[in-house]
Amino acid sequence: MKKKKKKIKKKKKGWSGWKTIMVLIAIVLFAFWVVPERRIPNPVDGCGPDSYNHQSFWYPWGDHFHRGIDIFAAHGTPVRSVTDGFVVKLYTADKGWPSGNAVEILGRSTRAYYYAHLSEIDSELYLGKYVRKGQIIGKVGKTGNADRANVPCHCHFSIHTWIPQFQNGFVKPKYHRWDLVEKLFYVNPIIAMGDSVN
Ligand SMILES: [Zn+2]
Repeated sequence: MKKKKKKIKKKKKGWSGWKTIMVLIAIVLFAFWVVPERRIPNPVDGCGPDSYNHQSFWYPWGDHFHRGIDIFAAHGTPVRSVTDGFVVKLYTADKGWPSGNAVEILGRSTRAYYYAHLSEIDSELYLGKYVRKGQIIGKVGKTGNADRANVPCHCHFSIHTWIPQFQNGFVKPKYHRWDLVEKLFYVNPIIAMGDSVN
């Protein structure tokens, strides 16, 4: 009886060694996934710091704060994913969404990158698809609530995150009591791109 028990113990030890290695690999992969991108590019082809208003992030607009930036470019300019990630949302203009044609891609560090008012979404995208950084996801347009005469073509670009961000600074509640909390769950794209916020 005693011998048998010993044997079983030995077997277990062997497995726990492998388990330890697997857990370590999992931790390394998880840590990599948790660390955000160091610096993201401007998602719109040929666009740089001159293509958007540097005050537009969290600017009071209508009945809410503007949660991203509007990158202005000619109709049809390619929009590329700023990160590797999974397509988690696809909105189409024909369904009447204010966003018009829009794509959301979940990248590292729980960050979801949202591109809206596109004239078209790349036809190869579908929910759950893994896209690579630099891949064309759509083209600049003015669909959704941007479809008005006085609104030029632009890509609304915002970054949502589940890990609170303190880089943005705090804001006085203006529209509802959650205003202060809400800002913590958005990343300022201007900072993420490494541009100046002024
Ligand atoms: Zn916008």
